[in-house]
Amino acid sequence: MRSIVWNDADEANGAKALEKNLRALKGVVKTEMRFEDAHRLLARYWLEDARLDLVDVDGFGSVYFAEGALRVVRYGGYYYATSTDGRALCGQNPSGAGASFGNVVVAPSRPSVNETALRAFVGDVVRRAAVLKLDVVPVFSLFHPHGPVFRVMFRVDKATNKSGNGGNGTASYDAFAAADDEGVARMAFGGYCDSCGSTEVIRRPLVDVFGHDKPHRRKKGDGGGDGASGKSESRLTCSVCGARDESLAVSGPIWIGPLHDAETVEAMWTQADAMGWLDDDDTENPPRRREKGQLSLCDLLDAFRGEANPRLSGVAHYFRTDELGRKGRCTRVPPRDVLITALRAEGHAATRSHIDPRGVKTNAALNVVVDVANRAVAALDELDGR
Ligand SMILES: [Zn+2]
Repeated sequence: MRSIVWNDADEANGAKALEKNLRALKGVVKTEMRFEDAHRLLARYWLEDARLDLVDVDGFGSVYFAEGALRVVRYGGYYYATSTDGRALCGQNPSGAGASFGNVVVAPSRPSVNETALRAFVGDVVRRAAVLKLDVVPVFSLFHPHGPVFRVMFRVDKATNKSGNGGNGTASYDAFAAADDEGVARMAFGGYCDSCGSTEVIRRPLVDVFGHDKPHRRKKGDGGGDGASGKSESRLTCSVCGARDESLAVSGPIWIGPLHDAETVEAMWTQADAMGWLDDDDTENPPRRREKGQLSLCDLLDAFRGEANPRLSGVAHYFRTDELGRKGRCTRVPPRDVLITALRAEGHAATRSHIDPRGVKTNAALNVVVDVANRAVAALDELDGR
């Protein structure tokens, strides 16, 4: 690192904090402090044709700097994006979400809504980058419940023909890509079934909901209405229990690619270990202060590692152990890590979620998870001699 520029629009309150943070870097790299609107600062870099290795924008709410920042990141560089607008991203403020995040819809209060929100945020940056003919992918994605805060580090590259179904040098952003584009489609919708609790990725166009009239190939014998009669072209059906339309709480467009890059997470792990940052900070004296719900760095990177498993690619949700116990789906639910071990023992990919302490990410379907959970509880009972 050669130089670093820190900026805070609020000089009165920001100067002290900047000064303190920069002290450790004095003499190591060239440092500079600025106090102006970040839009102006980024625009000036752009006018000067400057390209930066990394732009970190840590702003409040959903005020957007993505375009300004992405324009001045060099190809192969990074953009570290932030949103603290949990109300919009978690579906509590639909008009706010629509305006700030490109018409995104998030079904509120569903079990893995915080992951849906994180993926809606990622998808919005991917969309904004696509407009600039840039291809961005998250190298790690963080949801922090305190705030909440959404923080995603993107690698920024020039869009290529290979970067998705956009082709012709345009970046990929097509939430309506057909299911047979699965290899490249990175945006889609998520459907949570209110009847059975199953979650799935939906790639069919949602004519009724979004007014999108892109034709899609229909299989012979596929039910549903027809456009000529004014009925819905697209009927959504839960692939597990068969519940239709109104039972499916649909969110999107959301990013359905991986939330983290496995190689980057490994490199972060190695570096954190070398710095001694992975030592159990619970045993520190005095104990390190953490916000409610904050994981230790060791636990967080461990969860990232699990979530980066390629076998979980395309799994855009987690199951919550408490939810598995509702509606009689599970008689009793085993502890999270027991359930994960049991799922893995049967050949499924399974890991904890960094987003929710009760969250289990797995490529197993809901009925399989319930079955494995019930058998794990029975096995625990047998061990206890019950
Ligand atoms: Zn269902």
